[in-house]
Amino acid sequence: MVSTNTRLGIPSSPHLPPSRSLADLRFVIIGAGMSGILGAIKLEEAGFANFAIYEKADRLGGTWRENTYPGIACDVPSHFYCYSFAVNPEWSHRFSPGAEIQAYFEDVARRYGVDSRIQYRKEITRCEFQNGRWKLEMVDGSSDIADFVIAATGVLHHPAYPDIEGLDSFAGAAFHSARWNHQVRLAGERVGVIGTGSSAIQIVGALVDEVAELSLFQRTAQWIMPMGNPAYSEAEKDEFRSHPETIAQLRSEISHMFTEGFSNHLADVNSPQLAAIHNACVANLENSVKDPELREKLRPNYRAACKRLIMSENFYDAIQRPNAKLVTEGIERIEKSGVQTRDGKLHELDVLVLATGFRVDRFMRPMGVVGRNGTMLDEVWKDGPFAYMAISIPDFPNLFMLNGPNSPVGNFSLIEVAELQFSYILQLIERVRSGACGEVSPSADAMKRFDAERRDAARATIWNSGCKSWYLDAAGLPTAWPWTFDRFREEMARPRWGDYELYAR
Ligand code: NAP
Repeated sequence: MVSTNTRLGIPSSPHLPPSRSLADLRFVIIGAGMSGILGAIKLEEAGFANFAIYEKADRLGGTWRENTYPGIACDVPSHFYCYSFAVNPEWSHRFSPGAEIQAYFEDVARRYGVDSRIQYRKEITRCEFQNGRWKLEMVDGSSDIADFVIAATGVLHHPAYPDIEGLDSFAGAAFHSARWNHQVRLAGERVGVIGTGSSAIQIVGALVDEVAELSLFQRTAQWIMPMGNPAYSEAEKDEFRSHPETIAQLRSEISHMFTEGFSNHLADVNSPQLAAIHNACVANLENSVKDPELREKLRPNYRAACKRLIMSENFYDAIQRPNAKLVTEGIERIEKSGVQTRDGKLHELDVLVLATGFRVDRFMRPMGVVGRNGTMLDEVWKDGPFAYMAISIPDFPNLFMLNGPNSPVGNFSLIEVAELQFSYILQLIERVRSGACGEVSPSADAMKRFDAERRDAARATIWNSGCKSWYLDAAGLPTAWPWTFDRFREEMARPRWGDYELYAR
């Protein structure tokens, strides 16, 4: 389709469209997880009441709805892993369990009136830009038309199943960590876990005392950062309830600790902060694992924080239990009765857990997204997803992503990331509402420059220091925001207007 829109080029063009009333603009938020709930609350707060939230599942919560494996918790401190405007004095632990986080999102959605606006079982299959607006088609045949689309579709939501011969022939129960089968009895059973990411490490710590035997199939060893997880006492919760300023103070301390101790230094492999983190992980391994042979098997051959750093208070204890076994021999195939490793040994199992991670290049796909002049997102992203400032894509006007490609990821709060991104998105929306333009999208030149600078900076990050991880693209280059978190905050504070193309409708 050929666009008939007039390019304004700069905000001060004389051919401006009229300003729009708040109610006149229609929004669609795709996804009712952490980011979608945030988007709805912030739109409402800004006076935009004409919006719909479509959710493919039958319950809100995103990641926290889908991941229910034993031991699931967030490794970002609870008082920081919540919305800045909805702090929670009731958190039970420094790092709260997944079910509590899910309950928090349900509670916030209810209190802010978001839950009643969510339309469930509404998977968007196609989203096409036609005549200056987005037409959305849903799996049930219904449709909607909106001026703006907020893609709050999540990052880690398509399970990656391992391509291991014979997986289907396994006679026991086998399931992915993000599709936990709670009908399966684990007590007294021989359980195998494939993978050593954050999910597997939490599962092992939670299951080892329940099962008869636990076999952990490790392809790559992981650095483990020790993490105490004390419960908050009633007295502490009382203090939080009666003096919310103590929560604000705690949040600011945690934020400072994350930024100064970690996220500002990911871009500098030689920083003393990353060296300190590495040394803490080495000391944890040395002090916690007694058997020298097991210790060497658990010792990674790359720098700490190259892969996502794993926080655990119980993994080393768990893997040293008499009923736990670390298998480092590669997997040859899966048999009816268990996992056969390359040394010919058969590890007999009743249950097999695939903690093998996610397909991280999907983002809002498989939804078919068609932008200006018939531009297909699948074609634009054929070599991997990208977005200008991690928010938007040229030729896809008025479509903004939360926690989209090139966003900061790592051991910090994605809630803070989404809040910063939404304040930026509201400034883009305001351009249209005020009548400065009808459509806003980054220019192709700005996208090209941003991507070149991003790639350049990515080479100097810790993620590029000699390990494989889901942070890397198909060519082996880190995809996440490669600069400091302070720079992310600065960029999100105010759009670089010269990088945007503004079109009349
Ligand atoms: P992951 O970090 O991608 O780990 C997947 C694991 O499976 C890796 O150890 C990988 O080995 C292994 N694996 C994959 N395919 C395999 C195969 N064919 N054979 C043998 N091993 C195989 O996935 P995840 O643990 O689910 O975590 C994903 C992300 O979710 C985390 O990085 C984090 O961002 C988030 N998460 C966060 C928390 C939290 O507390 N906040 C908890 C869980 C998850 P290799 O290392 O050799 O590739």
